[in-house]
Amino acid sequence: MRTCKVKCIKKTTLYRIIGAFVVVLFCVIMLIISKHNDYPEPIPSNEPEPVPQSPLACVILDAGHGGFDRGAIGIDSGIGEDEINLAVTLLVKAELEANNVEVIMTRSDGNALAKTKKQDMAIRKTLIQNDNCSAVISIHMNKFRDRSISGPMVFYMKGCEERGGALANFVIRTLCEEIDHPVRRSNPGDYLIVRESYAPAIIVECGFLSNSSDEKKLCDPSYQEKLAKGIATGILQYLYSIKPLEPMS
Ligand SMILES: [Zn+2]
Repeated sequence: MRTCKVKCIKKTTLYRIIGAFVVVLFCVIMLIISKHNDYPEPIPSNEPEPVPQSPLACVILDAGHGGFDRGAIGIDSGIGEDEINLAVTLLVKAELEANNVEVIMTRSDGNALAKTKKQDMAIRKTLIQNDNCSAVISIHMNKFRDRSISGPMVFYMKGCEERGGALANFVIRTLCEEIDHPVRRSNPGDYLIVRESYAPAIIVECGFLSNSSDEKKLCDPSYQEKLAKGIATGILQYLYSIKPLEPMS
């Protein structure tokens, strides 16, 4: 009887030892598996986190015409100004964005904004009437019955010399300098885009598609780059002239 009791106790102890061993073995295996699955710890960097920069200002760019409305037609190539307008406007956009200016486009592709000219202009009018923007720039190519006339022109709303006129003066100067053309005066005018805008607005006529020499240059992508650089530089100079720019809230 006593022998049996001793034997039973020994057996129980043995089971306990085996049980404890199994538990310890299980824990060790789990530890090894979890170590293998650990992602590497990120290495702490001394670089400060980049702070997203707020845009310095907002500008509306209007590529004139589009779709059914081709605008002025190239005298030799037959190209529509709508096509060149968009190419130059997209380059101005890139230039401004590289300088931390937010850009809103009235159109970003070859299409018109509506099926008729009247509806198209009504939509453009709504788009340019934006309280948060500091300037509106409409980009066009010119034409004239006298085919000898060439070079850029910039129009602002007559009577708005202080704001629109100032913007126009900056842009015509930097544009002419960039394309190596004698600097012209800006011109007062009365066109929907400059009349209806809330912010100072200008129409930039980059050159004359009715002049063979201008037409050839206006179709050249490297010349378009220069036009865009000149226009964007003038816009930036204007923005910096109106106030020391602070990030928008
Ligand atoms: Zn036009």
